[in-house]
Amino acid sequence: MTVVPSLVPSATPRSKTPGAPAIPRGQNLIGGGFCDARDGATLPVIDPARDRLLTTIPASGAADVDAAVAAARDAFPAWSASATAERADLLDAVADAIERRLGELALLESLDNGKPVSLARAVDIPRAVANFRFFAGAVRHQQTACHPMDGDALNYTLRRPVGVFGLITPWNLPLYLLSWKVAPALAMGNTVVAKPSELTPLTATALAGILQELGAPAGVFNLVHGRGHEAGQAIVEHPDVRGVSFTGGTATGARVAAAAAPMFKKLSLELGGKNPTLVFADCELDEAVRGAARAGFANQGQICLCGSRILVERPIYRRFVDALVEEARARTPGDPQDPATGFGALVSAAHRDKVARYVALARRDGGVLLCGGRAPELPGELARGAFYEPTVIDGLSPASETATEEIFGPVVTVHPFDDEREAVRLANCVRYGLAASLWTRDLARAHRVSAQLASGMVWVNTWLLRDLRVPFGGMKDSGVGREGGRFSLEFFSESRNICIKL
Ligand code: NAD
Repeated sequence: MTVVPSLVPSATPRSKTPGAPAIPRGQNLIGGGFCDARDGATLPVIDPARDRLLTTIPASGAADVDAAVAAARDAFPAWSASATAERADLLDAVADAIERRLGELALLESLDNGKPVSLARAVDIPRAVANFRFFAGAVRHQQTACHPMDGDALNYTLRRPVGVFGLITPWNLPLYLLSWKVAPALAMGNTVVAKPSELTPLTATALAGILQELGAPAGVFNLVHGRGHEAGQAIVEHPDVRGVSFTGGTATGARVAAAAAPMFKKLSLELGGKNPTLVFADCELDEAVRGAARAGFANQGQICLCGSRILVERPIYRRFVDALVEEARARTPGDPQDPATGFGALVSAAHRDKVARYVALARRDGGVLLCGGRAPELPGELARGAFYEPTVIDGLSPASETATEEIFGPVVTVHPFDDEREAVRLANCVRYGLAASLWTRDLARAHRVSAQLASGMVWVNTWLLRDLRVPFGGMKDSGVGREGGRFSLEFFSESRNICIKL
């Protein structure tokens, strides 16, 4: 099987594991040219479903980042002065190009991450397309504020590009989350240095290839591959990087914030979550079960918005939990590249081991495993893969480590509650505050409870229904700032107020 060689620079040694698909080695894109790390160092890219080497990427360091930032700085004056329509047209062209290559990109995402190719085809890649299209439209139609002062003066606000942005992204939705940052940053006239997760770099390299093919001006989009504490840290610490948009874990976010703060960089932090799903006895039970299972196990539980802490009103507790276990059991791990597979591998063996450690902690703390709690037995090469069965744990204290810490895998804990007050207390008693979903047919309760949840986002009778105009982000240890719609346009620009005396 040959995978999109056209999207990645050529002249490359093929990957070394026999039988692995032929994926050219990844390179950095700096100042309009593809290149390796200056010292030639590389990192392996592993297919987690078969534990095989797919290709390599540069293990970039500070010198590579320096070159990328210099290229972005040089490109900034012309790009920031370009017409809005020119920038929007480029984003639309990127969206069209991604859409044309949907199948190839979905396959890359699946190989790299272990996610089902069906999910990448239905969600990851279409949403990357939508992000580019949305921000092309948003910047074309953006408005600014005007504050007249009773005939004395007129204030109006301009939004100006900031400069070079560092964009750092995680492994769970690689192209989708990268596009969420690249599109608004470029739309507003900034230039960027992007660093995708070293675990899932393939579609970022493909995006660089697309921008090159489309003739994006050199240095407007730069890509630097590498480890977080090397390439990532160097981006955050670089004095010419004027803003950083970071999505990743809370501990990493704290390091990013500490490095960026003394230089007063614009900073957006989209961090971890331990999101509650609140199920009230008056809910539409079948829908709530399906919704909670989807929230718990989509992308093998590796979405920051996943609902891994399921709170259920006592009168329906047993019925709900039994039905949830059935839903979980129906998700059989299988070959991510088989179009019929709905539940794939985790991103790496190390991550699978972390998930298993939390399940062991749950056992120690008296948790009862209703299903899952182990790696499945799969045939052939898949036997080496980082698979883990969907797991439902009952009987744990809602204050236990497994019930309060982010696991970021296919593990949910279930807890009964007796009334609304207790439901809200349990929902809010974690350090995170990213998202919540609640299931009820009582509209007054939906409003009342939503208003009390300490979460950046609340879904009622649904989960992960996304409107790209709304504020996206979390409170408490889930992050700082909001992205999406005008919030992204504002983050990726500086406002300048102009006051004219009449
Ligand atoms: P991570 O924090 O380990 O890595 C994220 C990115 O940061 C990677 O590109 C990594 O190389 C880089 N990085 C690591 N150390 C760095 C440093 N010192 N300086 C600069 N960059 C550094 O996170 P991950 O394991 O890739 O992703 C999983 C986490 O991401 C989970 O906690 C999940 O909740 C979170 N996440 C949050 C959102 C959101 O929108 N809030 C979305 C997706 C994922």
